[in-house]
Amino acid sequence: MSLAEGFAWEYKDWRFSGYSLAGITTSIFCRTAGVCFDLGQGLPFQLGAKRVLISHAHMDHAAGIPYLIAQRNMAGQADTEIFLPEGMMQPMEEILQAWQRIDGHSYSYSLKAAPPGQLISLDKLYSIKAFRTDHRVPSQGYILYLAKKRLKERFRDGESAAEARRRGDDPDERFFEPVVAYTGDSRIEFLEADPDVRKAKILFAEATFWGEKKPVDHARKWGHTHFDEILTALSRFENERIVLIHASARYSSDFLEAQLAARLSAADRKRVVLFPRPF
Ligand SMILES: [Zn+2]
Ligand SMILES: [Zn+2]
Repeated sequence: MSLAEGFAWEYKDWRFSGYSLAGITTSIFCRTAGVCFDLGQGLPFQLGAKRVLISHAHMDHAAGIPYLIAQRNMAGQADTEIFLPEGMMQPMEEILQAWQRIDGHSYSYSLKAAPPGQLISLDKLYSIKAFRTDHRVPSQGYILYLAKKRLKERFRDGESAAEARRRGDDPDERFFEPVVAYTGDSRIEFLEADPDVRKAKILFAEATFWGEKKPVDHARKWGHTHFDEILTALSRFENERIVLIHASARYSSDFLEAQLAARLSAADRKRVVLFPRPF
């Protein structure tokens, strides 16, 4: 792993590159969809991201916005779309205008507000929806959906789809499968925001604090989730994989892996994983 490449992680067809340590940098790039969740301070592995979903304005998540826009413009990729909480739109536009003045270049990009609860189509395959999270500044997470086709219900219960097609009827319907959900920074309340957070095939969930030295109270005070809270709520998560990110840099991965091994059942041990970390 290098900082330029990030850590690789994959599940079935879904490939990711990323890097996540609380207060340092957090960015998870879904290569399969070309969508990047947060940007940290801006790192080269994000260059292929045509769409960026920003959770909140803290520097360890959002400082990379000017960097990525500048890098993509230099590489001839002028079509970067940055989705943000509504309240970040105007200040971020001012930052980008100021930075273009001191950089002596004009960049092409588009900033778009992503209001929670609104399904936004990215292209034929992918849509996104923001959901409310609970942090110390205005914040939101995101769900990435894949458009799929399935037989309408009555054709699943026996009515002949072939016959419908002969009649000129379309027996199929389109539906949106939640494939990836990403919490950004949040108290455990993210769990109540949208049922698709619990249903997405893969959930990237923040677990900043672990163990007894920084207990649940401490995590809540700072607008974060403690691993104990995830354990308590685990039966409510329907995700095939829960990938824990944003653990504080005070913990070693050995300590975190030991916690997972000691406290999860064998079945959950497969389902709940730690996103790769540098130490
Ligand atoms: Zn953070
Ligand atoms: Zn934060």
